Amino acid sequence: MKSPSFSYVRPTQLSEVMSLLQNHGDNARLLAGGQTLLTTLNMRLSEPGLLIDLQSLQELKGITTVHNMLRIGAMATHAEVAQSALVSQHAPLLSDAAPYIAHQAIRNLGTFGGSIAYGDPAAEWPACLLALDGVVVVASSNSTRRIAAADFFTGLYSTALEQDELIVACEIPIASAQLWTSFHELSRRHGDYAVMGLAAAALPQQHELQQVRLAWIGAGDNPLRTFATEQVLEGQSLSEPLIAQAVACLKTELNPRADMTHSAAAKLHMASVLLQRALKGLLAGASISHIARNS
Ligand SMILES: Cc1cc2nc3c(=O)[nH]c(=O)nc-3n(C[C@H](O)[C@H](O)[C@H](O)COP(=O)(O)OP(=O)(O)OC[C@H]3O[C@@H](n4cnc5c(N)ncnc54)[C@H](O)[C@@H]3O)c2cc1C
Repeated sequence: MKSPSFSYVRPTQLSEVMSLLQNHGDNARLLAGGQTLLTTLNMRLSEPGLLIDLQSLQELKGITTVHNMLRIGAMATHAEVAQSALVSQHAPLLSDAAPYIAHQAIRNLGTFGGSIAYGDPAAEWPACLLALDGVVVVASSNSTRRIAAADFFTGLYSTALEQDELIVACEIPIASAQLWTSFHELSRRHGDYAVMGLAAAALPQQHELQQVRLAWIGAGDNPLRTFATEQVLEGQSLSEPLIAQAVACLKTELNPRADMTHSAAAKLHMASVLLQRALKGLLAGASISHIARNS
């Protein structure tokens, strides 16, 4: 199928984008990498009258550090995130997750901001942002808001973005050298969307795990955390019995929805395997060896 006809603009100033959004309302759509939007247009799932192409906006590009935050411009592509030395130094979870996103051709065009705005529960970046306590910086002609990832994803493909707002960047606290992160995913074939995935983070401190965050991909309508399972681990020394306790808790807490290829029970089993992989990796890792010895 071909998309319906639409008007197209390619502004060079952010202020221009904001006034276009304000004036055209729901009739306008932002075009980033186009890897999702163009398909929805071709399938006629969406019929906007105006596409606002963000490619010429320098303010939305680049990856930098600002104070104690890693700032990823909305138009940074998945490939740029994957190759960024700043990302691998300050948010290595993203470097680990990047190869799981689609294929190289899509990673070359698709953008970080586009993925966050789309809010697909099977996508990698939203769960990573949640695990890393990230913030989404959004702007309209009237204001700039900073929305915690925990409040940004509100449901299936829905977010806290208002109609006249766009994502400018995402910010992630720079990881301390002690922060442990781990990314695991299961999909039918390499490059497919995740059936189930886990973005995990914790701060091992004085033989104990602190600030445990387990963010799940493919488990619900939006990326979500399992707070009860995190609490099982919080403040504890990691050990095989503790991992078994955490997995048992996860099985009562997580309630994944069946999809076209996997039952809810199969997805729950996958999640428990992913949690074990992550925690056993942590237990075996050099940075945590003192915890293992003392547990
Ligand atoms: C075959 C295939 C496989 C894929 N596999 C995966 C995968 O495994 N994992 C994964 O995460 N993704 C996957 N994707 C999706 C891909 O990552 C997209 O790049 C991403 O979802 C959207 O980014 P985009 O830049 O292409 O956005 P677009 O397609 O241009 O836009 C997507 C939506 O976000 C809005 N938007 C874009 N930028 C902004 C902004 N700055 N502010 C506000 N709204 C904005 C648009 O208006 C649109 O509604 C796949 C895509 C394809 C085609």
